[in-house]
Formats: sequence, C-alpha cells, structure tokens
Amino acid sequence: MNIENFQESMYQLIVETSTNLPKDVRRAIKAAAERENAGTRAAMSLDTITNNIKMAEDKVSPICQDTGLPTFKIKTPVGANQIEMKQAIYHAIAQATKDGKLRPNSVDSLTGENSGDNLGGGIPVIKFAQWEKDYLDIRLILKGGGCENKNIQYSLPAELEGLGRAGRDLDGIRKCILHSVYQAQGQGCSAGFIGVGIGGDRSSGYDLAKEQLFRTVDDVNPHPDLRSLEEYVMENANKLGIGTMGFGGETTLLGCKIGVMNRIPASFYVSVAYNCWAYRRLGVAVNPETGEIQEWMYQDGEKIDFAQPAATEIAAAVETPAEQNVITLTAPITEEQIRELKVGDVVQINGMMYTGRDAIHKYLSDHDAPVDLNGQIIYHCGPVMLKDKEGNWHVKAAGPTTSIREEPYQGDIMKKFGIRAVIGKGGMGKKTLAALQEHGGVYLNAIGGAAQYYADCIKSVEGVDLMNFGIPEAMWHLQVQGFTAVVTMDAHGNSLHEDVEKSSFEKLTQFADRVYK
Ligand code: SF4
Repeated sequence: MNIENFQESMYQLIVETSTNLPKDVRRAIKAAAERENAGTRAAMSLDTITNNIKMAEDKVSPICQDTGLPTFKIKTPVGANQIEMKQAIYHAIAQATKDGKLRPNSVDSLTGENSGDNLGGGIPVIKFAQWEKDYLDIRLILKGGGCENKNIQYSLPAELEGLGRAGRDLDGIRKCILHSVYQAQGQGCSAGFIGVGIGGDRSSGYDLAKEQLFRTVDDVNPHPDLRSLEEYVMENANKLGIGTMGFGGETTLLGCKIGVMNRIPASFYVSVAYNCWAYRRLGVAVNPETGEIQEWMYQDGEKIDFAQPAATEIAAAVETPAEQNVITLTAPITEEQIRELKVGDVVQINGMMYTGRDAIHKYLSDHDAPVDLNGQIIYHCGPVMLKDKEGNWHVKAAGPTTSIREEPYQGDIMKKFGIRAVIGKGGMGKKTLAALQEHGGVYLNAIGGAAQYYADCIKSVEGVDLMNFGIPEAMWHLQVQGFTAVVTMDAHGNSLHEDVEKSSFEKLTQFADRVYK
C-alpha cells in the first residue's frame, strides 16, 4: 500500500467527520426542527444547532469542541498490514489536532496530563476485522464525553423507576430503552440517537450498542421484532417531552437502532449507547494498493444545506428569539440584576467571561483565583484553541461542557469569589440551586455542541491562566459579544431541569403497562 496516500486519506476522513455532519443526520435534525413550534426554546435551540452545522462546514472547523474518543472500525482484505495502517492513523490524528480540527483530548487517567496530540494508551480506538472483499472499509465516529456519560446498561430482570419490573423479554427490553432516554434527560445534548445492544456480556453488549451507531438513521432493521421495537421507541420516546437540550419540546430522540446477539443463560444485558445530535460518524472505502479514497459513505439521498432555506431567518431567530424577553448582561453583574432574572429568560452577554472546567473548579476550591471574579461569569467550556506565529491565541470551537461535574464545587466557589453567573449545559443539582438562591446567582444553559456559533461570539482572547492544566482545562479570559443562553436555574429556587425531569417522569409512568406479550 502507498502509506503516504493512506495517511492523507485518514486525515481527510478525520477532518470531514469532525466538521461536516453526514446527510442522514442532517435530515433527522431538519425533521426535528420542523416539528417544533416557532418561538419556543426548543425551536431556538434547533435554530442555533442548524446554524452551527452550517458554520462548521463552511469554516472546516469542529462542529463541537469535544472531540470525544475517536473510534475507527476497519475491515481489511486478508494480508493488509494493520501495523502500518495504525501508525498512519496516529500521524493523521496528531496532524488534525495540530491543525485545530480536533481538540487535544487524551489525558493520563492518573495524572490528568494531556498528551497534546490525541494519542496515548488506548486512544484512538482502532478495531480491525478481515473480510473477503478487495477494499478497505474504514468508519470513524467521534463520540463526545457528554453523551458517552449517559450510556447505560441494564441487567434483567430489573426494577425500573416509573416502569416497574422489566423482565427477560421484549417488553422488558422496551422498558429499558424508554428508561434510558428518560435518564439521559437533556444532558447528552439531546435530541439524540441511541444504539441498543441486546445480549452479550458487559463489554460485548456495549460494543454491540455502539456498532448500531454505524447504521444509517433511515435504514430498516431486517429483524421484524426489532424493527417494530425501533418504531415503537421512536414514536413513544418523543412523548416524554424532554426536548432539545432538555428544554422541553416535541423531539427528544432522533434515531433508535437495536441489535441482538446471543448471551449465556445466567446474564441478560440491555446496553444503550447514547449519541448527541452532533453525530459525527463517516466512512470511506479505500483502495488497498493506492491508499486513496474510492468512495464516501453515509452520503445517500438529499443533502440538507441548512443555510439555504432561511439563513437570514435562522440568524435573526437566534439573535432575537420570538416570544422571548432578551436581557443583556455585561460583567461585572450586580446581585440586583441577577435576582431580577427568572427561569425561561433569554440573555445575551457582552463583555468578559472566564472558562472553568473540572481542574479549575477543584483548584479554586482551595486556592485564590488568578483574576478578580467578583460579579463575573464562569463558562463551563474546554475550547479548541490555536496559537498563531505571533503568539496570539484564536478560538476554533467553544461550546459548553456538561456542568453537573462541577456540582460538588460550584456553589461554594460562587460564594467564595462573588461569581454571579455560570454558563454550561445540562443543568446542575440541588446544592448549586440552593447557593444561587442564597448568594444571588443564575445558571445559564447554552446550546450544547454549538461550538462554532459560540466561537463566533468570542471577539478576542484577553489572556489565559493555569495553562499547566492543558488547553481544555485552562482558564481562558474571553471577550464576547451577543453570547446567547437561557436562564434554566434562577435565584428564586426554580430549575427548568427539575421541572422537565418531573414532568417527563410522569409521562414515563404511562408506559409501565405490558405492551409485548
Ligand atoms: S454535542 Fe454535547 S454531548 Fe455531543 S460532543 Fe458536543 S458537548 Fe459532547
């Protein structure tokens, strides 16, 4: 094989996967956007998402800042040199990271040290299999941490909250799948896609679930029972009303694919792999002699170019959402300003904000802050950053990260430093809600995965502290303009996340009766 060509082919596959959503995913998102009523929070979120998809494609920049865990599945003709291919993929990954197409995402599990090039023990995942055909089939998925953390595995029989007994049959499987969608709420950046694996053991069950994510959104399951279960789940999971980002709405689930394998008599696992709307998976057929791409996969059917129907309308809807009261905030923010805000308000932020993820929150809990945070805004974000030749930093992607990880620290840090607002995704828990009420603070939910949209709102990088934690974990000082988010937890003890969880639980209980005999 011409290995230089092969490396270039892998580079193209990585860049295209990171920056350009496949056609089947675009069609599913378009259908979801059409189901939502104009002016709702769900419609506003989907406008931002579709706008972001278009921006990522145009700028050849990451759709979401979270590169996730790159996973390659490769089928080779007998005799192909897998060692050589692996090395070429490593080089391509490192190059794509250097070029800002992927965020450095590989960290030492014990020390937290970031390798800086997306390589390291176990990363990327590359799985080879041989087949009788005469070309290489190479597929890649970039599955982010926010949705990976919402994967769930059930061991049947089980008692499921809201649904009762789930037995070792199709009806028990049905309950597990509905429960998996409920427990994810909006935290995996819904609306999402699920792959379900029935059978196997704890590891092969999850492998089977993830394998389903390589099926096209619109394929039809050849197994009649699984086909009807997929249809049932698509029809009914969307009745839970969790909606995009967990803001409530008509679409919670964009796709459900179910696979089955044998098991041993003692075990019965149902494994669910949850994937966010930023469903970055592509594939190529590669010539094993020349190393060149022969064909791209997941490219059948109509391509939705989100800019075409209403680029200006989308932009306008994001800037000034209909039926929403848009409030402008500029830090330093006073306690009085914060206490006027209530759940559901849309805010636009101008001025400074500071990024902080896990390492920063832990650090701030027992150190002084490197800057005065009184009245300031903390953004839960691990951006993709590139330094130019003059030494200036540029933001390549900057969507919100999952906030709940900061729950043990957030309230205390807000009170300690006088922070008035935190921005993230997925909401936070009771401890933070109590602190917001006591101290006078708000939680703002940004649109998960909208990394290009938010990068565009960042007008300059004013500085950075604690770079020893690595690029995603450092504290970046960002000057923003028109950064839009929704108040989902306010200083009056209200939480949209709690409300949606409660109402979706009530709806879930309606599915407790046996459907499959
Ligand atoms: S869209 Fe959300 S869950 Fe998906 S990779 Fe991005 S931040 Fe993670």
